[in-house]
Amino acid sequence: MITFDVITIFPEVFDPYLKTSILGRAQKKKLIKVNLINLRRFTTDNHRTVDDTPFGGGPGMVLKIEPIYKAVQSLKAKSRKILPAGRQVKTRVILFSPRGKKFNQKTAKRLSKYDQLILISGRYEGVDERVAKHIADEEISIGDYILSGGELPALVLIEAVSRHVSGVLGKKESLEEIKGSYPVYTRPAEFTPKDSSTSSPQGKTRRGLKVPKVLLSGNHKKIDEWRKKHSS
Ligand code: SAH
Repeated sequence: MITFDVITIFPEVFDPYLKTSILGRAQKKKLIKVNLINLRRFTTDNHRTVDDTPFGGGPGMVLKIEPIYKAVQSLKAKSRKILPAGRQVKTRVILFSPRGKKFNQKTAKRLSKYDQLILISGRYEGVDERVAKHIADEEISIGDYILSGGELPALVLIEAVSRHVSGVLGKKESLEEIKGSYPVYTRPAEFTPKDSSTSSPQGKTRRGLKVPKVLLSGNHKKIDEWRKKHSS
């Protein structure tokens, strides 16, 4: 079982998504576990302050190192306690940052080999750089754009990593995992749009939109070849 510990100031945004479909089932089957940790629990002042203004000036606020340090320490200590003696927990601490290494399928597979992934979601202007340098094992970006927080990146990582955990996917979904992603079609074999605005390779006609013939042929060798040719 792989445990995802997500450190965030918005734990409430995760629930409905995590309960749905494949991820919901994976948790019920105890193949994965997701803990949502509110960073404010690790503050010591009355206002539960997690952020402060940036040194050197400039707009916005920066997430402080202390609460993040305490949260990570506590999560590592907790996981040490649960494990049967002798077996060492493999933990990886990940910080989400637009400057991190770009996330891809290979990274997802590599991370699926850990017992515990501690995911730190940033907010505001980002996270005190000492977290990247001294607390996180790696920094990950999910793409070349700026989001408002690390919550969506955490969900993206949890889903992509979980799909590599044995038993999480049914037979049907795992096919894509092996063969790469290919285009798919379903009934009807020909769809005729009512308006003339739908474009088709034949031009803006009202002709039907057809499914590639080979997929209707029942010839599985040919179908496999077609999928391989069109897969990424
Ligand atoms: N001013 C910061 C951006 C902060 S965005 C900078 O230029 O680096 C706030 C937080 O959202 C970040 O700390 C990070 O945790 C998350 N985030 C934003 N875009 C992201 C991306 N593409 N990938 C991963 N995390 C991202």
